Amino acid sequence: MKKAVKIILWVFLGIVIMLGILFAGFVYKVKNGFPVSYETEVPKIAFPANQPAILLFSKTSGFRHSSSIEASKKVVADMGKKNNWFVYETEDGGVFNAKQLAKFKTVIFNNSNGEVINDLQKRTLEQYVENGGSLIGIHGAGDNSHHWPWYVENLLGSEFSHHSLKIPHETAGIITDKQSDSLLTTGISKKWSRADEWYVFFENPRKKEFQILYTIDGEKIDPTANIPILAPNKNFGMGKDHPVAWHKRVGKGKTFYTSMGHDETAWKDTNFVKLIENAVFWTIK
Ligand SMILES: [Zn+2]
Repeated sequence: MKKAVKIILWVFLGIVIMLGILFAGFVYKVKNGFPVSYETEVPKIAFPANQPAILLFSKTSGFRHSSSIEASKKVVADMGKKNNWFVYETEDGGVFNAKQLAKFKTVIFNNSNGEVINDLQKRTLEQYVENGGSLIGIHGAGDNSHHWPWYVENLLGSEFSHHSLKIPHETAGIITDKQSDSLLTTGISKKWSRADEWYVFFENPRKKEFQILYTIDGEKIDPTANIPILAPNKNFGMGKDHPVAWHKRVGKGKTFYTSMGHDETAWKDTNFVKLIENAVFWTIK
């Protein structure tokens, strides 16, 4: 074999191996999050009197939904101004201490994923919710990178399975469920559709005693999308009845989750924004 051909083959092999390593690293990050340091110092927060405090927590160690997280900050800050809420946006896990958490009416896991708080901080958040606090999760907050049984049981109801890899994202009509709580759907159009990255869970949270708020018709999207290995099991326990927003009472507290919110388009969608606003109202009332 000519020397030049050999060099080309070796370079090609090198590129293939490098791409393989990069892909394996990406898959690992998505499923587990890369290790991060935990903050344990208590941050200084000036809580104003007479304003409900909302914690918008945007720390990630898994796949970072940057465009959604960045767009959310201004929208939620404006929502706070409009409603006289104190919105505290942070990526500092030190805030998960009993004394400060007790001052927040609601904690929002804003596409927060991976293992971003330590075991003690997780237990503190669990107790905060069970004693009357609230936890809201948006989109990536529902993926399978948290490795936290309490969180899956009380916020999600089921482990995340996968999402479509189709780009552009599929558009689906958002169906108001007959179980819906009117406080949570007020001001939201009955004719609402959006393109999002539709998450598929192994089981339907409806079967786990969660109140379903919105669904999509799971038969009108391709839940396996272009992941051929999933094709034989196309519905994965969700099927036609495919919830995309649900909530639960946990002890004296409340949880709310929506699988919508992959990118910045969500924060320009007045119905999605209203849903998040309603969720906060529901949790602080
Ligand atoms: Zn996403």
